[in-house]
Amino acid sequence: MLESVRVRLTLWYTAVLALALVALALAGYLAFWRDTVQRTDGDLAELSSAFLTTLDAEMEDQPGPDRLKNAALVAINEHRFRDHVFAILDPEGGLYISSLDVPPPKSAPEFIPEGFLSSTSFRKFVEASSGADRLYQNVKGGKGGYRGYARHFQAKGRTFTLVILRSLHTQQEMLEGITATFAWIIPIGVLLASIGGYFLARKSLAPVVAMSTQAGRIGAANLYERLPVKNEKDELGHLARSFNQLLDRLNESFDRQRRFMADASHELRTPVAILRGETEVALSRPERSLEEYRESLAAVRAESKRLTHIVEDLFTLARADAGQYPLSPQDFYLDELVADCTRAARTLALAKKISLQCDTVPELQIHADEALVRRMILNLLDNAIKYTPDGGRVTLLCRSENGKYLLSVTDTGPGISPDLQPRIFERFFRADKARSRSENDGGGAGLGLSIARWIAEAHQGTLELSRSDATGSTFVAFLPANHSAPTPAAR
Ligand code: ADP
Repeated sequence: MLESVRVRLTLWYTAVLALALVALALAGYLAFWRDTVQRTDGDLAELSSAFLTTLDAEMEDQPGPDRLKNAALVAINEHRFRDHVFAILDPEGGLYISSLDVPPPKSAPEFIPEGFLSSTSFRKFVEASSGADRLYQNVKGGKGGYRGYARHFQAKGRTFTLVILRSLHTQQEMLEGITATFAWIIPIGVLLASIGGYFLARKSLAPVVAMSTQAGRIGAANLYERLPVKNEKDELGHLARSFNQLLDRLNESFDRQRRFMADASHELRTPVAILRGETEVALSRPERSLEEYRESLAAVRAESKRLTHIVEDLFTLARADAGQYPLSPQDFYLDELVADCTRAARTLALAKKISLQCDTVPELQIHADEALVRRMILNLLDNAIKYTPDGGRVTLLCRSENGKYLLSVTDTGPGISPDLQPRIFERFFRADKARSRSENDGGGAGLGLSIARWIAEAHQGTLELSRSDATGSTFVAFLPANHSAPTPAAR
C-alpha cells in the first residue's frame, strides 16, 4: 500500500497538517493563557489601588484603635467580588483580616475553599511576598488555582501587606473547553483533509496512470500512437510531451530500419534471382557446350561479385548505425593514398577512354583509418567514371585548406538534376536505377555515397556535392588535418 505515490502523498500531507494544527493549537493555548495572566495582573494592581484608597479614606473617618479593621471591613464590602479574596497581613505575617471573615462568609464557596488562608501554598506565597515590594504569583488550591497579588502599605505607623487572590477557575474552565474543542476538531479536520488530499492526489496522478497504461499498450506495431497532452505547461504535460518526442524518434528510427530492411531485401532479391535463373538455364539441358557453360559461369561470377559488394556495404552501414564499426587510425600521407587510388581506377577509366588526372600537394600527413578513406575515394572515383560518358575527364584534387584537407573529384558527366541532388546521399537512392545497375556489374545499389559520407563524418569531416550541372559534377570532402584520433560516429 505504501508503494503507491497517492498513499504516500496523502500520509505525508496528513502528518504535516496534523503537526501544524497541533502546533497552532498549542501556540493559541499558550498565547491565551499569557494574555489571561497579564490581564488578571493588571486588574489585581488596579483593584489593590482602589482598595487602599478606600481604606485610607475610611481610616480617617473611623475613630478608636480598631479603625484599621473597621476601615478594612468597609473596603472589603465595597470591593469584594465572588472570585476574589482580600486579606490583610500584619507586619509579622499573621492574618489581620480577610474577606472570608466578612459576612456573608461563604461569598464564593465554589471558588475559595474554607481554610484556604491557612494552607501551605498560601503561607508560601505570604513568605515570598515579604521579600518584594509587589508580588504576582500563581497559588495552588481550589479549582484551577489562584493568581495572587501582594503589596505592602503603611497604617498606624506600621507596614501591613495587602493580598488579593483571584480564582482562575473560570479561565481554567474556558481553557478546558478550548482543549476539548481542539481534541475533536483537530482529528476531524485531519481526517477530512486526508480524505480530500487522497482524492486530490488521485485526481492529480490520474493522468500519470492513464499515461503509463497507454505507454504499456504502445509497441512496435502502433508506435504512431501518442499520449494526450492536456496542459502543455504543467509537469505532466511536459512529461507527456517528452514521451511523445521519444516516440517520434523511435518511430522515425523504426521507419528507417524498416525501409532499410525492405530496400536491402529488394536489392538482394535481384542478384539472387539472376543467379538462380542462370544456373537453372545452364542445368535445364543435360548437355551444353563448353562455351555455354563458360558464359553462364561468367554471369554467375559477375552477379555474385555484385552480391558480395552489396552485402559488404550493408554490413558496413549496419555496423556504422550501431556505432560498432572499429576504426583503425594510423598516420599516412593522404596525397600518396590519392595517387594510389588513381592508379587503381585507371583500368576502369581506360576501358571508357576517360582521362583520369590527379593533382595533389605532397606531404599531406593525416591520422585516419586508411582503408576507410581509400574506400571513400574509390567510391567517388567509381561513380565519376561510371556516370561519365566515354571520352570524358575525371580530375582528383587534394590539398590543404584552412587547416583541413580538401579532396575533390570532378567529372564531365551529365550531372544530377537539381531536384534529385538533395537525395543522392540517401541509402539505396539511385537517380537512374536502370542505368546504374546495367552499366556496372559490381555495384549500383545506391549505397556508395552513403558509405562515403559516413566515412567522412566518422573522421569529423564532411562530404558534399559542391556542384552538378550539365557540364559535370564535383564532390568535395573535407577531412581534419590535425592528427587526433577519429571516433566511430554513428549516422
Ligand atoms: P550507386 O551505387 O547507384 O552509384 P551511389 O550512392 O554511389 O549509388 O550514388 C547514388 C546516386 O547518385 C547514383 O545512383 C547516381 O544517380 C548519382 N551519382 C552519384 N555520383 C554521380 C556522378 N559522379 N555523376 C552523376 N550522378 C552521380
